[in-house]
Amino acid sequence: MLVLLLGAGGFGFWKYGLPWLRSRPPKPSGELQVHVLDVGPIEGDSILIISPAGKSVLIDAGDAGKGKVVLDALKRYKVERLDYFIATHPHPDHIGAADEVLSGIKVANVIDNGVDLSTPAPVASAKPKKGKAVAPPPPPPKKSKTKGVNNFFDEYRDALKQNGAQYEKAAPGKKYDLGGGAILTVLAPSEPFFTKDQMKTGGNDINANSIVLRLDYGDFSMLFMGDAEAQTEERLLGKSDLDLKTNVIKIGHHGSKYATSENFLKRVQPEAAIISDGAWNRYGHPAQSALDRLKAANAKVWRTDLQGEVTITTKGRGDSGKLYEIKTAKETKEDVWAGREAMKDDSSRSGFIA
Ligand SMILES: [Zn+2]
Repeated sequence: MLVLLLGAGGFGFWKYGLPWLRSRPPKPSGELQVHVLDVGPIEGDSILIISPAGKSVLIDAGDAGKGKVVLDALKRYKVERLDYFIATHPHPDHIGAADEVLSGIKVANVIDNGVDLSTPAPVASAKPKKGKAVAPPPPPPKKSKTKGVNNFFDEYRDALKQNGAQYEKAAPGKKYDLGGGAILTVLAPSEPFFTKDQMKTGGNDINANSIVLRLDYGDFSMLFMGDAEAQTEERLLGKSDLDLKTNVIKIGHHGSKYATSENFLKRVQPEAAIISDGAWNRYGHPAQSALDRLKAANAKVWRTDLQGEVTITTKGRGDSGKLYEIKTAKETKEDVWAGREAMKDDSSRSGFIA
């Protein structure tokens, strides 16, 4: 009888108790760090998250040639292995250096939005003619204008294969437990993906289908917008049950005028906005209008083009003082509320240096 009772109790705990325990967010246990890296001066995004349990996430890797900056940062923060590399969307200023990072450090999991820009494999050439001597090996493929555009993507995919990381397509609603109480949730892109013909002025479908993430740690929360603009924000706003209110936001598309809409800010109510941008960008990032909207929403701003790397640290509790702290690599005398002049509209082509 006792054996039966114990057995039933054990089964009940396993069946109902354990899932309940697991579904509760773990309590904060230490310090969470978010480093918005300085991958300027042209433009790009790369953000390193280190959870209180030491798990690491890299969101984007900056443009081609920026791999060293990113790898140096990983070394500086003693990250020997990345638990996750997340490519928000396939544009060179976000994954241009992904191949450099993937070949420089072991990565356990790679997540992207599933958009495949691979260059199609060349059609097999005609059969060798009879009687001819063994043909010399074909010359290495030249970077022609028609082929070269998506080379960065081929390099990313090749490096992903070489690295041996597990690949996963981002699924909205999916949560990643980073340990110590930190949870990363995928908010976008949701199906059906935005298509080119749905884009309004300023819109670019690849940007619009960016992965958007929310990070929670105790009482602290932060949004990572990738290069998502107003249309993606509207789609998120349409989900009335989605919790978008966060302390900090890495605003969309480097401060583009087409992102960070008034309505979106009303729902997010950020206290702090981080702008990852480059001093040499030609698109007028950050736009004065986006900065004005942030000011009107009572958010403070930090900019990588003026202040270098921006670091946010939090213990997940605000009871004994500040909930989080923001530090920058350098001081600036410039006005962080002054936008940049555009030399090129960021709706042209795809919003990146082609
Ligand atoms: Zn970008």
